[in-house]
Amino acid sequence: MKISALLRATQPVFSFEFFPPKTPEGEQQLFQTIAELRPLSPGFVSITYGAGGSTRKRTVEWVRRIRELGLEPLAHLTCAGSSREEIAALLEELATCTDNVLALRGDPPKGATAFVPAEGGFRYANELVAFVRERQGDRFALGGAAYPEGHPESVSLEADLQNLRRKVDAGLDFVITQLFFNNALYFGFVERARRAGVTVPILPGLMPVTNLAQVRKFMDLCGASIPGPLLSRLESVADDPQGVLEVGVEHATKQAAELLAAGAPGIHFYTLNKSPATRRVLENLR
Ligand SMILES: Cc1cc2nc3c(=O)[nH]c(=O)nc-3n(C[C@H](O)[C@H](O)[C@H](O)COP(=O)(O)OP(=O)(O)OC[C@H]3O[C@@H](n4cnc5c(N)ncnc54)[C@H](O)[C@@H]3O)c2cc1C
Repeated sequence: MKISALLRATQPVFSFEFFPPKTPEGEQQLFQTIAELRPLSPGFVSITYGAGGSTRKRTVEWVRRIRELGLEPLAHLTCAGSSREEIAALLEELATCTDNVLALRGDPPKGATAFVPAEGGFRYANELVAFVRERQGDRFALGGAAYPEGHPESVSLEADLQNLRRKVDAGLDFVITQLFFNNALYFGFVERARRAGVTVPILPGLMPVTNLAQVRKFMDLCGASIPGPLLSRLESVADDPQGVLEVGVEHATKQAAELLAAGAPGIHFYTLNKSPATRRVLENLR
């Protein structure tokens, strides 16, 4: 089922993001995580696409597996490292196993500071979105990425918003936000996006904190901020993994409850292939 149809039919929609594991142990863990999260009836499950296109094969493999398990897959797809012809071929393959694609530019590969398009490839997500629509028409529901705090490379929030509008106009059905820990950022962003003419559903992305060092790394990578009081609470239990999880679950539960009460269309959970925190947040909400 297309996520666009799902969002029209039912709200809130809860979704989980996974990355394709590299090792047999990682695969085992992901199967286990899916088994534990499945009873929560997610609206869809998304599978990321490794930096520089490094997981192309594994992403498709996991999209197929997710569908075989009876869940609705959303395949992430980036422009990184692929020519138009390669992307066209990949879209043909994805058309056999999913109705949903998250169309992204992608991050620069590890160590590189700027995104360099592949020869014969795309520079920005809006070009990829237009290409998917040109090649595949309405075959897929198309999602894109949005940044409540602005994309780290954007010159201003306003310019970033205009670029978001450009990719939505190219054919997006919905967007999913970068993670954030302060709901005011999401509410302000939705308001500005609506004023700028972005009318598609904006799914908030949440990551319950389970590991402080990992969160700091994410903050550096994606430019998202962490509120001082939350950071202090996490730091006060930094040596106690269970304590960090409790603070993370409590904060994410409050965030999710407030977002849904204010009319957010659902919650997208960045799970990092682990189930306990996401499961606890959803159980708290229900
Ligand atoms: C929900 C979500 C899922 C993600 N999944 C993955 C994944 O699976 N794999 C992965 O590698 N990365 C993933 N990312 C990260 C994403 O690839 C990076 O944030 C990347 O740097 C930008 O991708 P984008 O699609 O937002 O790019 P774009 O929309 O192309 O924007 C990139 C930058 O260029 C600017 N820009 C956009 N269009 C134009 C234009 N036409 N002219 C001038 N400037 C423009 C924007 O303002 C922004 O600063 C994900 C991000 C999110 C929020």
